[in-house]
Amino acid sequence: MIRIAVANQKGGVGKTTTAINVATAIAATGRRVLIVDLDPQGNSSTGVGVDQNTRQRTSYDVLIGACSAADAVVPTAIPRLSLIASTVDLSGAEVELVEMEGRIHRLDTALQAPAMQAYDYIIIDCPPSLGILTMNAMVAAQSLLVPLQCEFFALEGLSQLLNTVERVRAGYNQRLNIVGVVLTMYDKRNRLSEQVAADVRAVLGKIVFETIIPRNVRLSEAPSHGLPALVYDHRCAGSEAYIDLSRELLGRTEPHARAA
Ligand code: ADP
Ligand code: MG
Repeated sequence: MIRIAVANQKGGVGKTTTAINVATAIAATGRRVLIVDLDPQGNSSTGVGVDQNTRQRTSYDVLIGACSAADAVVPTAIPRLSLIASTVDLSGAEVELVEMEGRIHRLDTALQAPAMQAYDYIIIDCPPSLGILTMNAMVAAQSLLVPLQCEFFALEGLSQLLNTVERVRAGYNQRLNIVGVVLTMYDKRNRLSEQVAADVRAVLGKIVFETIIPRNVRLSEAPSHGLPALVYDHRCAGSEAYIDLSRELLGRTEPHARAA
């Protein structure tokens, strides 16, 4: 089972869009996938069609130990894709967890349960902060997938993120690696996008995925229909890019497997 946290402490860079669509693309290859929504805003829960008022057991309950991870899993309309939803309750967890034993390991421990081994991939959608929720995701994951928006300050804040990764590696999870950085919201009509993409590649090198996610209105429309873009319109440029990204990602996480 491979666990990937989608993280960047900046908001609005494409974490949730990436988490949902990568998860959907991987599920389409026949693998069983679970999304863990670790953002109190619950955008990935909404984005895969799990309505606010149907979220009974959530990632909050899992973190505080009120239920097991398996008990919090709900199915989605997408074959082989399940979800642990979140609600605004989760915003209290940052404070409540501080008092709790093993507060950095709680998600990891919950996901170690035998029932969770049924998933080939667990994709954790992080909130826009480097607090205790994102730390839990980094301890529970083997890999980080980092979306960077193609804008002027794309690299700003990255050193802070990398410092947190180092801290987690040193103290809690030695195997944590960065599986890749993905450039998002690329606007081909805008010279700045091109420049930013070139700069990011120059600085970060091969960890940057070849695939670039274009700015694409279908990607932003899909969540209001409760569908991943890959289901809402699987032929739009955004969906095609996420299929390519997922192929690259699978190549990095399962170098010996044949692409399905
Ligand atoms: P984060 O989870 O990092 O806050 P989101 O994935 O929610 O970011 O994206 C922020 C907003 O931008 C959302 O409204 C989303 O629908 C939109 N968006 C994300 N990626 C794209 C894209 N490639 N093209 C157009 N809109 C996008
Ligand atoms: Mg988000």
